[in-house]
Formats: sequence, C-alpha cells, structure tokens
Amino acid sequence: MIDHDVIIVGGGLAGSRAALEIVRTFPNLSVAVVAKTHPIRAHSVAAQGGIAAALQNVDPNDSWKAHAFDTVKGSDYLADQDAVEILTQEAPGVVLDLEHMGVLFSRLADGRIAQRAFGGHSHNRTCYAADKTGHAILHELVCNLIAKGVTIYDEWYVTRLILEDGEAKGLVMYRIRDGQVEVVRAKAVMFATGGYGRVYNTTSNDYASTGDGLSMTAAAGLPLEDMEFVQFHPTGLYPVGVLISEAVRGEGAYLINSEGRRFMEDYAPSRMELAPRDITSRAITLEIRAGRGVHPDGTAGGPCVVLDLRHMGKEKIMSRIPFCWEEAHRLVGVDAVYEPMPVRPTVHYSMGGIPVNTDGRVRSSATDLTEGFFAAGEASCVSVHGANRLGSNSLLECVVYGRRVGAAIAQYVQNRKLPELDEHRYLKETAQQFQGLLDQSGTYRIAEVRQAYQDCMTDHCGVFRTESVMQEGLTQLRAIQQRYSQVRLDDKGKTWNTELIEALELRNLMTVGEMILASALNRRESRGAHSREDFPNRDDSEFLKHTLVYYSPAGIDIQYKPVSITMFEPQERKY
Ligand SMILES: Cc1cc2nc3c(=O)[nH]c(=O)nc-3n(C[C@H](O)[C@H](O)[C@H](O)COP(=O)(O)OP(=O)(O)OC[C@H]3O[C@@H](n4cnc5c(N)ncnc54)[C@H](O)[C@@H]3O)c2cc1C
Repeated sequence: MIDHDVIIVGGGLAGSRAALEIVRTFPNLSVAVVAKTHPIRAHSVAAQGGIAAALQNVDPNDSWKAHAFDTVKGSDYLADQDAVEILTQEAPGVVLDLEHMGVLFSRLADGRIAQRAFGGHSHNRTCYAADKTGHAILHELVCNLIAKGVTIYDEWYVTRLILEDGEAKGLVMYRIRDGQVEVVRAKAVMFATGGYGRVYNTTSNDYASTGDGLSMTAAAGLPLEDMEFVQFHPTGLYPVGVLISEAVRGEGAYLINSEGRRFMEDYAPSRMELAPRDITSRAITLEIRAGRGVHPDGTAGGPCVVLDLRHMGKEKIMSRIPFCWEEAHRLVGVDAVYEPMPVRPTVHYSMGGIPVNTDGRVRSSATDLTEGFFAAGEASCVSVHGANRLGSNSLLECVVYGRRVGAAIAQYVQNRKLPELDEHRYLKETAQQFQGLLDQSGTYRIAEVRQAYQDCMTDHCGVFRTESVMQEGLTQLRAIQQRYSQVRLDDKGKTWNTELIEALELRNLMTVGEMILASALNRRESRGAHSREDFPNRDDSEFLKHTLVYYSPAGIDIQYKPVSITMFEPQERKY
C-alpha cells in the first residue's frame, strides 16, 4: 500500500493549482497527483480564449461586482451567489499570482495584461495568452509542481474511490504501462478529474473527458449536483466538433446564416454574437431547423452556419487567434482569412458535478459533508455557473477554487491520522472486476457500444429536450447498458491494455449519462442550458433549486437543495 498525506486525482488546472497551494503552505506534506495522461496533456491545456478577472486594465469601469452580476445572470440565477462572490473577488489576485509564476499573458502596449471581450461579460475582462491560454498556464503550474517535489503518478488510471462509513480513505489505481494495481491511502483525497464531453458523439473535449471522477463518486453512494446542465458551445468546427474559441467572436467575428444575415439580432440584439452560450447555441440550432443553415459548399439548407472573420484582416487573425485559424485550415481546409468557417454547437462543458462547499468539501447530502474528500474544477459543482457558464469563468474557477481547496486541505490534514483500511479486500475486488471483464465472451465491440451510446445521448438529450424524447433515450440507454455485459475484449494482457481502460471508461460514461437524463427529465422548466420544449419557461416557484441525484444499480433517486441568493434577486434574463 502507498501512503501520502494528500492524493489528488487530476493534473489539470484545478488539481495542479491545489497541489501547489498545499506544498506552498506546508512544504513537508507528502502530496501526490495521479493522472491518466501526463498532467500537461490534461484537457486544461487545450483552453483557448482566456481567464476572466476585473483587473480594469482595459475597462476602468469594471468591478468584481459587475463580474459577479454577469456570472449570476449568465447562470440564469441558479449559481450560488456566495460562491460567485469569492470567485469574482479573488479573480484579480489569482491572475496576478499566475503572472508572478511566469505565465506569459498577452500584453497591452504599456506592458499590462491585455483583456478582451467575451460572451455574457459586460466589460472587456478576459485575460489571455493569444488563443493558447490553457497551455500557458498549465505548463507553468506543472513545472512548479515538479520543482516543489510533488509526486506525480502519470499514466495511472484510478478505478475506485475508497469510502467507508462516510469517510474517504484512499483509492485504487492501475498503472497503464504494466497493469500493476496499487491501493493508495491518504488523509485527504481530492478529485479534479474534469468533464464528461465524451458522453456525446460530438464534443470539443479530449478523449480522456469521460466523467470517471463523477461516476466513481456516484458509485460510492454520494450525490451529483445539477447534472442536467450540459453546455453546448455554439461554435464547434463542422464536422469534427473541435472548438473554435469564443475569442474569435470576442475579437469581432460574425455568425451568418444561409441568407447572409447576422441572425443573432433576432435573438439577443444587445449582445449579438457575444450573447451567452446557451442562447447562441439555441439560435444556431433554430436557424438550422428553419432551413437557414448552410452546407460546407455554401448552399442553403445545410447542417451548420458560418463564422465570418474576413473583415478582421489577416494581421489581427494571425496575432490574436492564430490557433483557431490553424485548426480550420488543418482540419477542414478553410483559410479563414479568405473564407468563412462552418460551425455548429458542440458539447463543451459540464456545469454540474460533485457537490462541494466553498472549501471544496464534498457533500454527502443537502446538509452533510463527507470526511476526507474534496473536489474542484470542472468535476465539481460549487456552483458558480448555475445553469449556464460564461466563457473564461472556468479557468478562473479552477485557479480560484484550486487555490482555496488546496489551502483548506493543508489545514484539514494537520489534525488527521492515516485511516485504517483493508488493502487486500480492495486488491481482490479490483482483480475480480478486471478478470470479469476479460473473461466476458460476448460478440459486441467496445467502439460499437460506445458509438450507440453516444448517439443515443446526442439524439435524446441535446440542445432542446422533451419528456417523450428523453424517456425514449432512457429506454434505449438501458438496452445499450445490457450490451456492455456482452462486450468481448481481444487484449487479455497487462501491457498497455488500452482496450481494458476504454471498457472502464465506457462504464463511467454510461453511469454519468443516465444521471444526466434522469435529472433532465425531472426538471420540468427551461433554465440556462436546459431547454425543455414542453416546459419553455423558467419556473422559479418550483425549480429555483439545485438537483442532487443519487445513483444505484437498482435505481436513481432525486432530491433538491436551495440556491444561495445573497446579492441579486432573480429577474427576467434578457440580452
Ligand atoms: C477546447 C477547450 C477550450 C476551452 N477554453 C476555455 C477558455 O478559454 N477559458 C475557460 O475558462 N475555459 C475553457 N475551457 C474549459 C476549461 O478548459 C476546463 O473546464 C478546465 O480546464 C477543466 O480543468 P480541470 O482541472 O477541472 O480538468 P482537466 O483539465 O480536464 O483535467 C482532468 C484531469 O483528471 C485526470 N483524470 C480523469 N479521470 C482520471 C482517472 N480515472 N484516473 C486518473 N486520472 C484521471 C486527467 O488525466 C486530467 O489530468 C475550454 C475547454 C475546452 C475543451
């Protein structure tokens, strides 16, 4: 058995920032980060557009309170306002701290950090490093972890959270290289495992975004919060689905339909292309449904709309958003200096997740906390994004709450001993689980079941939802889950058995998908990213509350918990 004071799962921005804070606070603590890829390959590295903070470098009228209001309005009033207050008040401090660490932000002519416009933000407050912001921040954080002696278990896959009697005691992990299984025991376990975009067939997320942390938490009997709120980013490059950053619209690009019109004037006249993502994604979907989409060859009636950058000019495109230009050029052969890019909504972000308080302590119910268990970043729900996240607020959440949770853990472990646990039980159960999978003798292949599942979720729980379509989705999902027990794995070995990992990931994806569908069916209103055609209005009298969904193979249980409203009373949300 391996012992550490703290074990963190996830080497993205949230996990890395937390680990750094712990060793900065108490350098003698033994802190380890586990990640299924190398930490600098975490999805955070792909973040493009930037990180929001009311630094007032470009817009002297900005303030944390304006940032907080935009965030709460963007969330369709479901965000917990005490958590938003922390997020926006601490934002300038965490960005300057990153700068002092050496992060290479883009600059104004006078040398201060530059800030650009972003969807749903009323001031220019998004700090950026061209369109490679995640890359710039994550590399600096990971270098710091190595310099400070944090143990990094890279390419280890965590299969189980060890939770006994309401107390997290450690985890089980599997070395992908050679199949070695280890039990890790710790005074505090933290999950920073990122999102679940691979639940759907078209996503901007990386292949590793399979919701493992959420599924392991649910399997341990703990609830997940607000799983119905899945963010569709308006501008996924068609047909591949990779992200064309909102920064492109922040820098001035237009969304155009087959009639050559900037159709956003029909949906959000005051914000146009910089409306929040839920509104813009619905607008694009409605344009395509109404036959005003385009085909990639430019003819009408197609499956996408276009993002037009041509008026911005080559110099601006190449200096501010060079990576987005390159993506379109490399992946679909479009030179955006001269031609518009084909785009449509793509699954992007998970507003829901593991419920935590503002110190990252994981909740076991609406009122109680779990001992020894913490979470932060996209895997968690604190909830600063409510029903819809604003662009550039996620990197911010990762560093603000990564830092806070790290500080909280550093204090928490001071008064704790290493817990007692039966290592052999967990080794034995894990060996049985793997052997069971390897021994299955069905005819289905992983890729085939995964594709059927992703298509099912995409067709039944997308941008627009209705009761009957989601019920049908749940029925199909259950049938697809049956096929999982008839999947045959060809690779029976221990060396780089990626097929086994894919099987474990698929099980996690299916657990998460079922919880999304069940939560979405139960919320009979439209709020933020959850848009019900059969209940088109927001219903504050019934549903101004957070969903808590509990999983068990026997069935799903749904409860609710109140929203914290400390600054802004809910109003009609118009742009
Ligand atoms: C293309 C793209 C662009 C984006 N651009 C922006 C932007 O400009 N601004 C913004 O604010 N937000 C942006 N976002 C969102 C933001 O990047 C993410 O929400 C954020 O980076 C998530 O960070 P994280 O630390 O929570 O998780 P991640 O960075 O996803 O890291 C998850 C970690 O968990 C590990 N892990 C997961 N499961 C296991 C397991 N079973 N065993 C071991 N390790 C495991 C992974 O290996 C990884 O290290 C973007 C997202 C995408 C996809």
